[in-house]
Order: sequence, then structure tokens, then C-alpha cells
Amino acid sequence: MKTVKEYDFSNKKALVRVDFNVPFDENFNVTDDTRIRLSMPTIELILKKGGSVILMSHLGRPKGPDASLSMKHILPTLEKALGRKVKFAADCIGDEAKNAAASLQAGEVLVLENLRFYKEEEAGDEAFAQKLAVLGDCYVNDAFGTAHRAHASTTIIAKFFAKDKMFGLLLAGELESIDKALKTGKAPLTAIMGGSKVSSKISIIMQLLDKVDVLIIGGGMGYTFAKAQGGNVGNSKVEEDYLQTALDVVAKAKEKGVKLFLPVDCVIADDFSNNANTKIAPNDNIPAGWQGLDVGPETNKIFADAIENAGTILWNGPVGVFEMEKFEKGTVSVADAIVKATANGAFSLIGGGDSVAAINKYNLADKVSYISTGGGAMLEYLEGKVLPGVEAVLN
Ligand code: AMP
Repeated sequence: MKTVKEYDFSNKKALVRVDFNVPFDENFNVTDDTRIRLSMPTIELILKKGGSVILMSHLGRPKGPDASLSMKHILPTLEKALGRKVKFAADCIGDEAKNAAASLQAGEVLVLENLRFYKEEEAGDEAFAQKLAVLGDCYVNDAFGTAHRAHASTTIIAKFFAKDKMFGLLLAGELESIDKALKTGKAPLTAIMGGSKVSSKISIIMQLLDKVDVLIIGGGMGYTFAKAQGGNVGNSKVEEDYLQTALDVVAKAKEKGVKLFLPVDCVIADDFSNNANTKIAPNDNIPAGWQGLDVGPETNKIFADAIENAGTILWNGPVGVFEMEKFEKGTVSVADAIVKATANGAFSLIGGGDSVAAINKYNLADKVSYISTGGGAMLEYLEGKVLPGVEAVLN
């Protein structure tokens, strides 16, 4: 893999695609600086090797220029993380950007305005990509979260840097961790898939059945499986169009010799609310008027036991509505079991916004092996899909 480690940056201007799409409060204070912090090793290495850095990113989903989504809001957080002042260009292309890039000295950092102020960014427009490309001597992609998108700054731009293109340390680390989990991880390889819908996870579940030894399914998905197998699921979330798909998953698991664990009991509620009345019910016998919002105590034991025996763990998606305290026990129990397995030598990889949020909520981030920054990109890479942003640097 071509990374910033091998490249000679002396007196080079490195155009670095980062993912600084961070959340803010109403006063534009960054409320979670994880993505900025994780970019530091790449930026610092380039500076240490005698280069200068031009950072480009998207922020939010603007429909054209929008002051509330200006990259200038991230500058204080970035300066704090870097321990130095950074420069800012109020446009990502054109004279403003060109002049700022031209005057950049070795050791300096310049931030370009939000790439998505131009619709050409998401359209993967080649002329726009070229206008970005002229700003730098080399191109570094360190934005794993958008590596599955063929946008101008993540993919198309690479063609303007025949040899001088490479991965940043964060993106390279992401790919290495997923490869480590899937290709060289210790058995048994155990995947835990949660989240609300079968429809959004089905293609990854089908792919994982070719690779894993154990598959644990929780979250809203569990009720579609329960109904498909003839259970009564009351008012629980069910995707009627996916009942056969659920049965196909069960059949494929059997055919592939994958141990499949589905919830056996659940926490049911008489309302989708933290103030609802709750009780425990079998997953396949939920009374009318009640809905399952978390896995139950018996399921927690079964899931934890399977997780603690894993050699390699992949986790995507909470197994209950963990945002509400009454329905977080299942997700806490999964997280605790992963921590325990990791302490005993398993390799654990956590990805997807909600499972990462859960790990952070319970302060367990430093007790798992790797937290992926890219939910969608991680799932596509796990599925074996070629990520355009990765392909563009490799070719
Ligand atoms: P996803 O984006 O598909 O990974 O889904 C994550 C969301 O699924 C979280 O916001 C959870 O609250 C939600 N979720 C998990 N379990 C359930 C459930 N039993 N019923 C409804 N939503 C759920």
C-alpha cells in the first residue's frame, strides 16, 4: 500500500482529503472532535517530513455556499489539536485558493472552504477535480468515511497525480484492520449485526455468511426473523417484504455451517418511549399493543457467551434502542462482552455510527481493538466491494 510513510514531502505541498465532517452545537463549538484528532498523525508526519499541508473536506449537506457550514468553524479545534495556527481560504478553488496555496511555506497548514459548496464535488466532476488538483504537488486520501463515494476530491482527483498519490495513515489503518479481521483473524470469526432494518443490512449479512463462523443478529431486525419463523411479534417493527429474506439467511447459515444466534427473549414496551411500561417476553410471543425494543436477559447471556468465545469480532449496529435508557441493557451487554473478549486476546473491530456512539457513550473506546470511522465505507469494504477512493489511489 502506498502511504505517506514512504513519500518524500520535502518542499512539497500535500493536498490532503480529510473527513472533518464533525458535529457542532448552536454556537459552532465542535461537540465531537474524533475525526479531527484521528487525522493528526498524517498531518504531523507530512509536516515533520518537510512538507506543507492543504486540507480539504466536506461538512454537512449544503445546497451551495452556506455560512453555517463553513470550514472556518473547525479552525479553533484544529489549531488546538495541532498546536499551531492554520491558514484558511474562503473558497476551495479559484484565485483565492490558488494564492493561498502558492504562498504556503514548508511546515504550514491551509484549510480550504467546504468542498460541497460546489455541487460538482458529489457529482465527481472532472473539471472541478482538476481545479483542486492544481493546488498541490501530491495527493493524500485520508478520508475513509467517504472512500466508498466517487466524488471529485475522494476519487476523480487521483488521476491528476500519476505517481504522487497515496493513502494517509488513518485510511491505511482502516483497511489494514478490516483485512486483519477478515483474512488473518483468529477463529472463530464472530459478527454481531444490529440496527433497525433487515433491508439496510441484508447484503452485508449475506456476504458475511460466506466468511464468519458465528453470526449474531439483534436489534429491530430480530422481529422480522421472529415473524418469518411463525412468531407473534405484536407491534414490533417488522419489514413484511423481508420475511422470505430472513428465512433465506437462516437457510444459508445452515448450509454454510455458520452458527446463527437470534434473540430468544426481549424487553417489550407499550410505547416507543423511555416512559413506557416494560416487561420481558419471548421473542416470538409478544402481545398485541406491545413492541420489542431491546433483547432480553436470556438473550444477553447467550450473546455474551458467544462473543466471549470469539477470536475475532466485528460489530455493527446496536441490539436495542440504546438511545433510551430503558432499552440499552442489551447493547451495554454486547459492548461489555466485546471488551472482555478483547482483554482475553480477541481482535475486535467496531464500525457504524450507532455502535461507535454506543462504545463512546459507555467509555469503552480504549478497550476494543479498533474503531472504524466509516460506517458505510466499512460495510462496503467488508462486503468485498471495491471502494472507488481506494481503487483510485492504487491504480
Ligand atoms: P441502523 O442505523 O440500521 O444501524 O440502526 C440503528 C438504530 O436502530 C438505532 O437508532 C436504534 O435505536 C435502532 N433500533 C435498535 N433496535 C431497535 C428496535 N428493536 N426497534 C426499533 N429500533 C431499533
